[in-house]
Amino acid sequence: MSIETIPAQTPTRLFIGGTWLDSAAHLDVINPATLTSLAHIGDATEEQALHAVGAAHDALGAWGDTSTRQRSEILRRAFNIMTDEIEDCARLIVLENGKAWPDAIGEATYAAEFFRWFSEEAVRVEGGFRPAPAGDKMIITTYQPMGVAYMITPWNFPAAMATRKLAPALAAGCTAVLKPAAETPLTALWIADVLQRAGVPDGVVNVITTSASGPISTAILSDPRVATLSFTGSTYVGKLLLAQTAQRVLPSSMELGGNAPFLVLEGANVEQAVAGAMVAKMRNGGAACTAANRFYVHESVVAQFTASFETALRGLKIGPGIDRANHLGAMVSETERDKIVDLLQAAAQEGAQPRAIGEAPEIGAFISPHVVSDVVHGSTLTRNEVFGPVVPIVTVSSTDEAVLMANDTDYGLISYIYAADKGVGIEVAQRMESGMVAINRGLASDPAAPFGGMKESGLGREGGFAGIHEFLQTQYLAVEL
Ligand code: NAP
Repeated sequence: MSIETIPAQTPTRLFIGGTWLDSAAHLDVINPATLTSLAHIGDATEEQALHAVGAAHDALGAWGDTSTRQRSEILRRAFNIMTDEIEDCARLIVLENGKAWPDAIGEATYAAEFFRWFSEEAVRVEGGFRPAPAGDKMIITTYQPMGVAYMITPWNFPAAMATRKLAPALAAGCTAVLKPAAETPLTALWIADVLQRAGVPDGVVNVITTSASGPISTAILSDPRVATLSFTGSTYVGKLLLAQTAQRVLPSSMELGGNAPFLVLEGANVEQAVAGAMVAKMRNGGAACTAANRFYVHESVVAQFTASFETALRGLKIGPGIDRANHLGAMVSETERDKIVDLLQAAAQEGAQPRAIGEAPEIGAFISPHVVSDVVHGSTLTRNEVFGPVVPIVTVSSTDEAVLMANDTDYGLISYIYAADKGVGIEVAQRMESGMVAINRGLASDPAAPFGGMKESGLGREGGFAGIHEFLQTQYLAVEL
């Protein structure tokens, strides 16, 4: 097997009712590092999508009736299988998404952790029991699985975005229809296979792949057998979907776009800030909703920060992720790469001077890191989620100015703060309009923590104690005393 191909046993067909089903039409999955085809996968029809909904609905009763201990143990087995086969998962991620090997291993490990975390959460959902203040009844609060969950995931974390939804849904007793992004379906199909081997009964998890995500999703969301939507992707598509779920008053969890500010305050340790910035910016080549998108750096350290950051970026080796020595892989497609190029050109037209660092391969969807100094707050690079290795630096003269600029956006997923000490960092963090704040570190994501945004970055939380509640509904029992 060439290192650029997928193993022959990699699932490529639709996964419905526990069976791998073929379809009349097919889609090409492209390796963005070589621009060659990796596989032909099923292109589901509307009828097949609704067949998947039917399978999930048929499996619901029996799955919801299993004990939480049984569900927990199945999820734990999924964690074990995925951990044993972590390199297989990372390899698929690299080949279809383009990211560097260390990022892919990091993602696969993070993804497996959702199975472990929710295997532990499955048995720990607490209800409530208390006398009513009026003394006339007992108030009992219980939780029930929502039902069939429709899940839509993006291409940037093909494994983790799937397990972050599947694990809590299965723990809660829900069944699922998962639709991965058209660019990165192979990892999701592989995860379905892992779950089947872990003992998930037929129909509990179904995966459909399609070239028509809009119409297929409309059909699924109109089906009365579907009880909830869990979406991760852009704010633009999230809003389109919310308009549809409103028609059925369907609970909707939304993990949407970001525009993360990275603050380096007066007195911060600059070398530590650069090390954190390398993680916050360069993980996944900058294609992360949590990627630091705009840097607000105090005037007293901006020169040192910029110089050190450039030195660190110069040390990155750019090339196909399958070569484990490379640190920065390809973007997911030439289209995504070209969007970054367009934003850099728009910035240049506004007077900014992007500097390319290092050489990117000519073939493939590669782009070198770019540093852009003296960026004006409110310009293109601070308003748009760039989703690539671009570092726009805005000089600020005070913490108040940095906070004001950081919050001047419709997004509110995550912020990063480097401060002189943790006390100052926590104080400033409480002024940030974002669902997550990383203080003196470049990474916040953790399956045990509530992931999610404020403002147009989303609704609801994934992971942590909150994650399972996205798939449970509250029932209150009033019991006569
Ligand atoms: P996207 O264009 O919104 O696509 C996300 C998913 O939605 C894909 O599966 C896509 O399918 C599907 N989709 C597209 N149009 C649809 C429609 N009309 N109806 C139903 N589904 C539709 O986003 P993306 O470019 O893949 O991902 C990047 C975005 O995701 C960024 O904004 C990023 O910040 C955000 N993101 C957020 C989080 C978070 O946790 N907050 C995590 C990761 C990414 P097709 O591929 O078939 O078009």
